Amino acid sequence: MWIYERDGAVDIHINDELVMKKPHPCGNNRFLVLRVGMDFKIRCIGCGREVMTPRKKVEHNIRQVFRDGEKITV
Ligand SMILES: [Zn+2]
Repeated sequence: MWIYERDGAVDIHINDELVMKKPHPCGNNRFLVLRVGMDFKIRCIGCGREVMTPRKKVEHNIRQVFRDGEKITV
């Protein structure tokens, strides 16, 4: 049985706000989580565009997570 290293993985919930290291092409770097799973569906708070991104890619790109307006340590 494989045991996966958590690799700095964060427990992300729907409606969490993510601050990413790499900004969206529109210049905004805050995203709202719409769906979690193998792929995350996130919405750019700047331009409202929705993107599907593999979980791994999202996790590597997270700088900060806000839940209910409170900062969560990553
Ligand atoms: Zn955008």
